[in-house]
Amino acid sequence: MRKWERTVFIKTKSKCGVCGEYHAIGLTLGSGFVCNTCEANIVASDVDEDTYQVYLDSIKKIWNF
Ligand SMILES: [Zn+2]
Repeated sequence: MRKWERTVFIKTKSKCGVCGEYHAIGLTLGSGFVCNTCEANIVASDVDEDTYQVYLDSIKKIWNF
């Protein structure tokens, strides 16, 4: 697994690897980015396993597992 390359909060808009939209705030994961909305969805989606799996797959792609 790669190290975290940048700070958690960034000021320029980046394309979210999960929803595909551009957001200013979110997490950088290696060379990828997850917006704060999707991150919140991931955190909140532990009850809905189907949704959780979709986000988990997206995160794995970003991380290049
Ligand atoms: Zn997103």
